[in-house]
Amino acid sequence: MDRKSSLQALMKGPLAPLYFCIGSPVVGNPTQYMVEAAFDALGYCGRYLTIDVDAEELDPSIWGLLAMNFAGGNVTAPFKQEVLTYLDELTESASLCDAVNCITRKSDGTYIGDNTDGKGFLQSLIAVAPDLKKRKVMVFGSGGAASAIVTELALYGVREVVVVNRTEAHAKTLVNNLEGISRTQLKVDRWAGTYQIVENDLVVVQATSVGLFQPGACIDVAFAPALQNVIACDVVFNPVETAFLKKAKSAGCLTLDGLGMLVNQGAIAIQLWTGKEPDKALMRSSLEEAFAVC
Ligand code: NDP
Repeated sequence: MDRKSSLQALMKGPLAPLYFCIGSPVVGNPTQYMVEAAFDALGYCGRYLTIDVDAEELDPSIWGLLAMNFAGGNVTAPFKQEVLTYLDELTESASLCDAVNCITRKSDGTYIGDNTDGKGFLQSLIAVAPDLKKRKVMVFGSGGAASAIVTELALYGVREVVVVNRTEAHAKTLVNNLEGISRTQLKVDRWAGTYQIVENDLVVVQATSVGLFQPGACIDVAFAPALQNVIACDVVFNPVETAFLKKAKSAGCLTLDGLGMLVNQGAIAIQLWTGKEPDKALMRSSLEEAFAVC
């Protein structure tokens, strides 16, 4: 938004809607830069603030944000679960995966929490796999990102999802919590030694935290040579081409990076807040610009 319109809003109202990103630590989180670029391009006068919240001050911090009528915001680690209790309503996704990353103030002044991580991932995946419902999806990991992804895959009605995790008990809990929400077959597989990926037509999702800011690190998996029609996805977005994606590419897989998911989850949030469709290419280039600084 240009300075003149901004001044107009300041002097004559309505005041600019305010948005937040809370977490700890939040230095290094580029969401504000991406959202501000999208707001500007839309001519939307919203202001977005990144706030590092001390865990012991979470309660007054959240009540303060709600009391000051913030129009919405993002929640990142480690508060995605704690924030649930402060909200008036949860979407199905947020309630199923027991985590909120996006909050929106409704017109009646109440706050609704959503989880857009899995939705953002699903959008990226459907774009390259229109036959997704017929596929088997293997998800490595059982933390927040994996849980959001498995939830959306099940709600979408994918044929089969197999969850593989270093700590098998976490995978079992994830699957048990989602049992029966759709006709998707949800299974757990054991991860002992190097996990061999040998089936054609799979979707393989690297949803652990391995590889973030560690260009050479990769989960302990091996791809059979010359796999047919396999899509390998990573949730890790920095580096964009992770060691996992390089390994998958050299085995002949189509690859999908974590930046697309990050852009899509942000775009869903902006749609919820403004009712407008943001420019995703601009959002992606803003993230690339932000990561180039680190
Ligand atoms: P969590 O801490 O909730 O979960 C971490 C997961 O990684 C667990 O399943 C853990 O297994 C597993 N893990 C950790 N270390 C290893 C290891 N050495 N070998 C195998 N598995 C391991 O993290 P999140 O789920 O919140 O985040 C995961 C990643 O997703 C992060 O890199 C985050 O930045 C990214 N992310 C990306 C988004 C995007 O838009 N692209 C959105 C949200 C997150 P265990 O259960 O055994 O501990």
